[in-house]
Amino acid sequence: MSTPYRGRFAPSPTGPLHFGSLVSALASYLDAKKHHGKWIIRIEDVDGTRCKTSFSKQITDTLNSYHLFSDETVRVQSQHTEMYEQLLSVLRKQQAIFPCNCTRQSLAQHNGGHPFVCESSLDQPHSWRLKTSLAAYQCQDSIQGTLRFTDDLKNNCPVLKRKDGYFSYQLAVVIDDHQQNITHLVRGADLIDTTAQQLHLYHLFGWTPPSICHIPLITNHSGDKISKQNHAKPIQDNNLSTLLRALHYLKIDLESPLSIAEALSLAIEAWDPNKLKGMKHLSLEEQDLHFI
Ligand SMILES: [Zn+2]
Repeated sequence: MSTPYRGRFAPSPTGPLHFGSLVSALASYLDAKKHHGKWIIRIEDVDGTRCKTSFSKQITDTLNSYHLFSDETVRVQSQHTEMYEQLLSVLRKQQAIFPCNCTRQSLAQHNGGHPFVCESSLDQPHSWRLKTSLAAYQCQDSIQGTLRFTDDLKNNCPVLKRKDGYFSYQLAVVIDDHQQNITHLVRGADLIDTTAQQLHLYHLFGWTPPSICHIPLITNHSGDKISKQNHAKPIQDNNLSTLLRALHYLKIDLESPLSIAEALSLAIEAWDPNKLKGMKHLSLEEQDLHFI
């Protein structure tokens, strides 16, 4: 028997849920339910400087108003920092990471990137960065096809723990997905760029990565992702027409369902990731501009 499907949606509570996030939440939910699997909400609040508890509640309330309920207790990342610390020390013993005292100014000549292993002192305030690697990875993405990552780890040393003590999304997301036995990730195409780092962390920990696929990103007229940074508006709770418009971007067009519950169950039947094959972006249509 194959492993039971476990999927998740993992929003950061830096603002209320917007239209683009609803599309992502739905894609992960529909894929999980189509496979008779579990769908779990996780609050990614490792960045204590940007996340607020009030947004966590607001986001889960909005999801629930669309009948998107977590099949297990909602996991909150900030409650697991001890585990992140423990696993960071595993990487430290492997000498896969290094301390870094570099400042924003000192990295300005590298466009803010960090393409080398620096000589830094543990006595000064320091972050922990992942060492560069020549390792190449690939993944079989059921929507985007084969993704090959050859140079992704050669010229960048991403931060795993910041100078201010907060852990990075990159580290936390890998540890949590593994700890929660997540088998399938369905997420936005903007995360393709960080996939190699995550596969590398799985490799260093000796864990098997989940199956990963990337849905097209909903973009505005300038081609930018609809995001909180771009001031996307919060969506209304419990609004059938918003749900139908979100499903439209997943290539599901339903004929006048009577309720959110009915729309969701029809959408589970209709969900077919093949209809999104190879698409990395979808422009927001004229009638949906009020969402941004
Ligand atoms: Zn450095």
